[in-house]
Amino acid sequence: MYSSSPKKGFLEVICGPMFSGKSEELIRRLRRAQIGQQSVISFNPGIDTRTPSHKIASHNGTSFQAVTIQSPEQMMNFITTTHNVIGIDEAQFFSADLVNIICDLIDSGKRVIVTGLNLDFKAVPFGTIPLLMAIADTVTKLSAICVLCGNDAYLTQRIVNNEPAKFDDPIIKPGAQESYQARCRSCHVIDKKPLWQKTL
Ligand SMILES: [Zn+2]
Repeated sequence: MYSSSPKKGFLEVICGPMFSGKSEELIRRLRRAQIGQQSVISFNPGIDTRTPSHKIASHNGTSFQAVTIQSPEQMMNFITTTHNVIGIDEAQFFSADLVNIICDLIDSGKRVIVTGLNLDFKAVPFGTIPLLMAIADTVTKLSAICVLCGNDAYLTQRIVNNEPAKFDDPIIKPGAQESYQARCRSCHVIDKKPLWQKTL
């Protein structure tokens, strides 16, 4: 149902490769809102084994309380009219239903802040993040540092048995940090390029 609320909300997307500080940036924005006396709630997907204990955790050790959910619909069991700000971490792991739910939240006046990998290890746009980036009011694209050359890294390298993963290797569960590296485009190794006309 399209909201008739005169005051719409806002969508902010924080994206980038692994180790670029996306969760850290989300936590910073959520804490800032809390300090401003705003009502904040945040969510993360249950499949991220790095954060099993109902919190958003960044690689630098900061964390923020979160409701761990399996599907985006579950968010509606927790979000109330009093919440001003909604954080969603690792959104690339949620189903496409997330997009409609976020649009409804924005229409009802919520400020929604989403993090996610915009590209998977194959350098292919990941899940709903590209769509959310298009819809968003602001997009913050973070970079990491390439572990091989030190340049800015916008890609995630998957390593399997000390070798670069193949394009057709299945995406496995996240959280195995030793299996992924941030790399620049020059140092990123993948055996195939995506055929865009088939993926669009
Ligand atoms: Zn590099």
